[in-house]
Amino acid sequence: MNNNKGQHFLLSAKARSFSLLEIFRLSQDEAFDLFRKARWPETNGEAVCSDCGALDHYWLKTRKQWRCKSCKHTFSVTSSTIFANHKLPLTTYLAAIALYSNTAKGISALQMSRDLDCQYKTAFVLCHKLRESLIGNKDQKLEGEVEVDGAYFCNHVRPINRLEDRKDLRLVQNQNPKKRAVIVMRQRDGNVTKTFIAKSENQKTTLALALDNIKKGSTIFADDHPAYNVLHAHFNTQRVNHKAIYCGVNGENTNFAESYFSRLRRMHLGQHHKMSNLYLGNYANEAAYREDTRRMSNGEIFNDITTRCGRKGVSRDFCGYWQGNKKLREELAA
Ligand SMILES: [Zn+2]
Repeated sequence: MNNNKGQHFLLSAKARSFSLLEIFRLSQDEAFDLFRKARWPETNGEAVCSDCGALDHYWLKTRKQWRCKSCKHTFSVTSSTIFANHKLPLTTYLAAIALYSNTAKGISALQMSRDLDCQYKTAFVLCHKLRESLIGNKDQKLEGEVEVDGAYFCNHVRPINRLEDRKDLRLVQNQNPKKRAVIVMRQRDGNVTKTFIAKSENQKTTLALALDNIKKGSTIFADDHPAYNVLHAHFNTQRVNHKAIYCGVNGENTNFAESYFSRLRRMHLGQHHKMSNLYLGNYANEAAYREDTRRMSNGEIFNDITTRCGRKGVSRDFCGYWQGNKKLREELAA
């Protein structure tokens, strides 16, 4: 999407179609209208009953809620969305989405709490809810030319001070037990990236993931890691040996996948510093979303995330996270 002068898209005025200043200028009523239109884009902001889907309702002006004429259900603009039972003003949530959509490598909860002047715990849950809203259709299959690659995360082991006390980190028993492999599959055209978390990058895992997520007849590009040897029997598979070359003469490369890991690694090291294994999949998916939307203007990304927040439904993991969801947290962590 470079323009004629060869200027990079992200430096062009087209990439900046929206500013945080616009959110701060909104009144509470205008913020309400903006959220309403983002939540129900197909009816141009006309409220749709969150229970039965009917369009006929009464407007309860003082409560800023609707009551459905069919099922008598009372609902607000945030009912059944990730912002259900919200405590902060709507403009704060819109500002959070704006901050979140403007960053290239994600935003840490600490930074969000400083920007919005809210508690760290509030920002932590808010960022996680936004991250959760980015999870797309898991059933969608990739096709055409698909790049597959894996990388390890959460595998850091603090070096022991004295050389003679240090252990051989190549041995499994000396590695960090929280080490996880992020496996990425990127369709070269169409900006579709899928990510998966596995304990290790091995033949069994990669084959199962490829059969589940890549259509038959597609061409897979992978590096020379032995985990991908098994793919040759099921797909047209092209390999590139990174020790010798990064891009083969016939386009054998995994540059899209490498680009994805470059972003996720920088997100981890530069922003979040710690990514819990429990939600590593959501962080990995966030990096995939940012890769896939890298040529969209920030206004388009803001609208897209706001609409996703409206459609996602109440967060199972993060609604009441600090209040009483501790048991669920522990169950998920087990
Ligand atoms: Zn209804």
